[in-house]
Amino acid sequence: MSTEKTETYGRPEGQPVAAVCPGCGGTGPAVRTVADACADPESRRGGLTDRLARSPGVHDGSDSLVHFLEGMVMAGIGAGLAYSGVQNDKPLYTIGGSLLAVLLFVGTIVVVRGERRERKAVVAGEAHAERLWRPAHHCSSCGSVFYPGGSPWPGPLTPEQFKKYVWTEAGYGKQLDTKVKGVSLPPGMPSGPGGTPGHA
Ligand SMILES: [Zn+2]
Repeated sequence: MSTEKTETYGRPEGQPVAAVCPGCGGTGPAVRTVADACADPESRRGGLTDRLARSPGVHDGSDSLVHFLEGMVMAGIGAGLAYSGVQNDKPLYTIGGSLLAVLLFVGTIVVVRGERRERKAVVAGEAHAERLWRPAHHCSSCGSVFYPGGSPWPGPLTPEQFKKYVWTEAGYGKQLDTKVKGVSLPPGMPSGPGGTPGHA
């Protein structure tokens, strides 16, 4: 009796049947999901994990608190210097110490606020990035990234193009390295809602 139901026609979500690299025609062990490629310890060592990263490694809240405290301690040292200048009648210390204290205080606020802004952007874009990142495959034969279903883009991408695409669509393209920012995407590549086309 062969009453086995074949359910392979209903395309399982995120698991297309055959992933064939549009760059070199590679299949099988050479082709795996971007997620699998990133999880491979060898990719971590070789830097591929970073090149295919879904989102930036942002400072979490406790990092920012540490940065804030460090900045305040250094500003305090500047203030102490200024104070000793007043005590010992050394105007150079007073002026230098005050300037240092103010610069460190303002600088710390700017850094901590910037980190918070970056965190917010990543949290806000995470779901959208995940939708574009998860179905992508990486071909180790030619180094291309592609979407087996042909959507949102049928052709092969370099890891840098892929990363730029995902991050830009997710709304945190500003946090890309300068090198990746400078990469141009294939002409005609779609940019969905939430994307910021033109903003390198
Ligand atoms: Zn390939």
